[in-house]
Amino acid sequence: SLSEKLQNTFKKLRGKGKVSEKDLKAAMREVKLALLEADVNFKVVKDFVRDVSERAGGAEVMESLTPAQQVIKIVNEELIKLMGGEAEKLNIASKPPTIIMMAGLQGAGKTTTAAKLGGLLKKQGKRPLLCACDVYRPAAVKQLQVVGGQLELPVYAEEGVTDAVGIAKRGLEHAVQHSNDVFIIDTAGRLHIDEQLMDELKEIVREVSPTEILLVVDAMTGQDAVNVADKFNSELEISGVVLTKLDGDTRGGAALSVRAVTQKPIKFCGMGEKLTDLEQFYPDRMASRILGMGDMLSLIEKAEQALDLKKAEELEKKLMTQKFTFSDFLDQMEQMKSMGPIQNVLGMIPGVNAKALKNASVDEKKMAHIEAIITSMTTEERELKDKLTPSRKERIAKGSGTSIVEVNALLKQFEQMQKMVKQLSGGNMNKKFKRKGL
Ligand code: GDP
Ligand code: MG
Repeated sequence: SLSEKLQNTFKKLRGKGKVSEKDLKAAMREVKLALLEADVNFKVVKDFVRDVSERAGGAEVMESLTPAQQVIKIVNEELIKLMGGEAEKLNIASKPPTIIMMAGLQGAGKTTTAAKLGGLLKKQGKRPLLCACDVYRPAAVKQLQVVGGQLELPVYAEEGVTDAVGIAKRGLEHAVQHSNDVFIIDTAGRLHIDEQLMDELKEIVREVSPTEILLVVDAMTGQDAVNVADKFNSELEISGVVLTKLDGDTRGGAALSVRAVTQKPIKFCGMGEKLTDLEQFYPDRMASRILGMGDMLSLIEKAEQALDLKKAEELEKKLMTQKFTFSDFLDQMEQMKSMGPIQNVLGMIPGVNAKALKNASVDEKKMAHIEAIITSMTTEERELKDKLTPSRKERIAKGSGTSIVEVNALLKQFEQMQKMVKQLSGGNMNKKFKRKGL
């Protein structure tokens, strides 16, 4: 799969102190092949590889990331950009009803998606009315009535009428009269784009002026989906795309090219046959899915913001020898301040036990006190060379303007932290990192 191919490519960069131009070129060639094999549009691939190479080869060298992490980070960011960056919400008409027209080829998933979208909006407190305008396919009206019925959505249909434009118009009147604030039109599709189909869709658009024209495309059809999207878009001025069947064994190419080719946002994705399987489309989530690295990416993000790799390496060495001192604790706290709660940071590392983290929790409000306590220790005390006797504790409490109770609480916390450190240095963290190819 695309994910596996990309991960293999990144694995080869692992362990390199520095990525040479040759390594990068080889990696980019593999990325390019993987994308083409995943049926991503050729021109899109070309631009993508150029952008990534420029950035990776440029001056963006970050101390805090390994070379492989840097390349992953850039590829991830460019993938997100390719799919439109931010998630785009459904347009809602300032004066109801919001009119949504579904368009697309036969079998793309229009009827199913019309119902799913109605269900989604109903959950958000809207009162959708579905409208059956596929007057050609036998049983198409019945299909909409069945799926609409399963979601307890009203369906406007006219028995035996073959004038789709008229049905849309009268359906809209019905919606206004019954205060339905969303009106979803299911239309006919053909096996291929033809003039008659386009004319009918254009006529419906002219008559009801949809708030949204959503093109439904089957992600499984790869490059074809992109061609279809391109043609529909130039004929109809679509406002967004719904990618269906992303749950299947798709090669991911459609998701990557549709936006780049049409310049129209992917707004929803169909994730299964069940009527609840429709989700808002998030470019960043899709990119993580393609890279197959999930939370690893958010960890990289956080790390590049705050963590100094050299310091992290030093700390890791300390962890290995299990000599974790108060000075290390202080260092950790400094870094944690810029990274957010330690649970959040450590929780993202694959294999770290969330329960263990709870016990090691650090109340950020108390950090200032902890800092004061540790800085009131002598160097020997901080490095664990001198044991903290009761009289020493008293001196530290006084010096830091805290109390013995607080000093003892810190010691307890420190012990818990040491325990966690032991757990981590059991090799768990390292193994997991290596398996991810970092
Ligand atoms: P239409 O001809 O465009 O109206 O397509 P339909 O709504 O009738 O869908 C065609 C087939 O695709 C049906 O069997 C649907 O159940 C199926 N389908 C639609 N969306 C999805 C999806 O997101 N995932 C899966 N697995 N199947 C889907
Ligand atoms: Mg249909």
